Amino acid sequence: MTRIRLAYSLVWIAILLAFGVPTAAPAAGIELSATTIKQGEAVEVTVYVSEVGRNPVLRFGGRVWPLYRIGQEGLRTYIGTDPFTRPGTQRITVESGARKGVVLFSRGITVQRVSFPTRRLRLDPDKFALLDPKLIAIERQKVGTALRYLSSGQHWDGAFIVPVEGRRTSPYGVISVYQGRRRGWHRGTDFAAPVGTPVYAANHGIVRLAEPVPVSGNAVFIDHGFGVVTSYLHMSAIYVKAGQRVRKGTLIGAVGATGLSTGPHLHWALRTNGVLVDPLPWTR
Ligand SMILES: [Zn+2]
Repeated sequence: MTRIRLAYSLVWIAILLAFGVPTAAPAAGIELSATTIKQGEAVEVTVYVSEVGRNPVLRFGGRVWPLYRIGQEGLRTYIGTDPFTRPGTQRITVESGARKGVVLFSRGITVQRVSFPTRRLRLDPDKFALLDPKLIAIERQKVGTALRYLSSGQHWDGAFIVPVEGRRTSPYGVISVYQGRRRGWHRGTDFAAPVGTPVYAANHGIVRLAEPVPVSGNAVFIDHGFGVVTSYLHMSAIYVKAGQRVRKGTLIGAVGATGLSTGPHLHWALRTNGVLVDPLPWTR
């Protein structure tokens, strides 16, 4: 080694000691926040790929999941599961956006079956009438339109807050039986509280819907970005408007018993890319 080259090397060693080894771009691959989850839980999937701009396709459970940009070479999404998700081990695959059908990465994820309990409720005839398929369709269309275009950036920051002070009554996944007829799984968490109890935004976001709907009563839906949306149903009052930016803890409404409700409570739900998951793990 010549004296000059040795000097160069020493300068580089000095620079590395002073500033640390420069961090290389993350290696291409796929990272999962968990490889075993229960029905109702979500998993964070991060994909590092050189062809970020060429729209790689992520598949799981027979559908495509939107990928959101994080930095130069990263993409992220939140895969949600619910009681409809088939238990067992399934694969998450990332396919090239440039070369159709070419699998770039593949990872297995195990979804464990949960035995959800049953609750039997007797509804007043006027409340039972709200289960009219026509009203359900009107509501579904309204919510679908409001959530059609969501933010591609991430608005939320850290753990979500429980949006109301109240006793947790009906947890996620409970099977509801009204008037002896099974109506499917409860895909949210209920908190019983007196009418007028303040309801707060669980995290930062943009209000996408804030109005009465037939079955869910006075409803607010907040878009937190990256496909994550929270909803607050059956309220007595709404204090925000669609399009408004809210912060974690912004007062958005008050507990009520509007729509299909047997008493004053807040139904709080969280969806990831359209799948209603258990919101409580997001508060930890
Ligand atoms: Zn509920």
